[in-house]
Amino acid sequence: MKPKNQIKILIISCLVILGGLISIQYYLIQNTYQLISETYVNEVKKEIAPVIESPELDSLEDQFVSEIKKIAWLKAQDSINEIQFHLQAQSLSDSIRNLSQKYLKSQWKDYPILKEVQLKFQLKQIVFITEFAQDTILRLVDPPLVYIGQRFDGNGFHLSSGITQTSEDLDLEDENLSTDFFYKHSSTVNMDISNFQQKIWNKMKWMLIGAFCLILAVIYLFYHIFRSFIKQKKIAEIKTDFANNITHELKTPLASLNLIIQSLQKKEVIENPEILDQMIQSMERQNNRIQNIVDRVLESSVDEQKIQLKKVEIVQFLNEFLADYHSENHQIILAIEPKELFLETDTYQLGRVLQNLLQNAEKYSPKGSEILINGFQNHSDYIIEIQDSGMGIPASEQEKIFEKFYRVSEGNRHDAKGLGLGLYLCKQIMKGLGGNILVQSSLKKGSTFILKIPVS
Ligand code: ADP
Repeated sequence: MKPKNQIKILIISCLVILGGLISIQYYLIQNTYQLISETYVNEVKKEIAPVIESPELDSLEDQFVSEIKKIAWLKAQDSINEIQFHLQAQSLSDSIRNLSQKYLKSQWKDYPILKEVQLKFQLKQIVFITEFAQDTILRLVDPPLVYIGQRFDGNGFHLSSGITQTSEDLDLEDENLSTDFFYKHSSTVNMDISNFQQKIWNKMKWMLIGAFCLILAVIYLFYHIFRSFIKQKKIAEIKTDFANNITHELKTPLASLNLIIQSLQKKEVIENPEILDQMIQSMERQNNRIQNIVDRVLESSVDEQKIQLKKVEIVQFLNEFLADYHSENHQIILAIEPKELFLETDTYQLGRVLQNLLQNAEKYSPKGSEILINGFQNHSDYIIEIQDSGMGIPASEQEKIFEKFYRVSEGNRHDAKGLGLGLYLCKQIMKGLGGNILVQSSLKKGSTFILKIPVS
């Protein structure tokens, strides 16, 4: 399977697993929320049951029922109209409700849970039948007729509901009328618990934190799987690139050596000392090239370069070093501040860095173009800039070029030979010198490599 497809399958599988895990967690949390809510409501119900069933509330309820029946009787007889009925019923419920609230408050000490619970005894509708009025239904919802407890919004939790019906005992003066009166009402008892949701989430706090951490852990795990997968892929790519690059580098000197060996087998060459001498020199050059490649690979395998710091006059060193550096196809321009400055550095290692950067500047810029070298002090650093007007480096690659074996694959730069080791080596050396190496570059305009050496 292609690595691209492998990554796609890995991403999709991880997303599916993550989705499944989140759905299961959501389902479990929802069910637990319901279970904890029910248990908590049942506990509260149990705790307040003695208050709800107390003789005090019973007697208040009885008082209310007997009074409301009387008002209903007046309405049944048309002694009062519906508006008057509602007004009287409301004022009756208000007065009984006030008494009930006083009683409930008095119970706070024995039943502290009552501070957080609101009760609502509500009469929903009254039905009565008399000789004059058949099946009269009085709905008592707007405003609701709450006779015990508090008028809270919504239904809260249902505690009980009941129907009270009677056809006698109205305690009226005229007993003949009372016998014909059939009365029925339905009532409900509900309760509300303040900050209910918050309380339940509080109870589930650790479970939620656990679930959240579990999901985070899975995401973290997936992230690591991805990272190591991509890393492995990159290492595999680097290995292939390196094998290709080193083959590419060795090809030319080996081909030359092959030609020389073939020539040395010819009689006319062996007999001509001049040509023989040329051949031996060429062999030596090719041998040096191969040795050079092997040295570069060996050097790069040592992570820390040996640094020997010495007090050095940097301006003189730079001028001498660059005077000795000969470029075949480029013009090297120096702009070094002629101010004497001593600093602690390793000239051998610094020379290797400069050599690498100059060779790169030549390799990646057109023949005949200029390479500018700046040297100046900037606060606590000595800065050396190597500026070319070559092909430049894409912004996305500018950090990567300092990685081992990394070569920019865009454009036609693979025409220039290389192993992707030079800049890695420069970075290691600059680190060892206590300085740094940076790059500024724009495509098709050129690159500037900046060396920062601390001034001691
Ligand atoms: P290489 O042996 O490939 O030159 P380096 O480590 O020296 O290895 O450079 C890494 C890569 O950085 C090169 O392959 C090249 O793509 C890019 N690079 C380095 N110097 C320059 C430059 N002066 N201009 C443009 N690209 C550069």
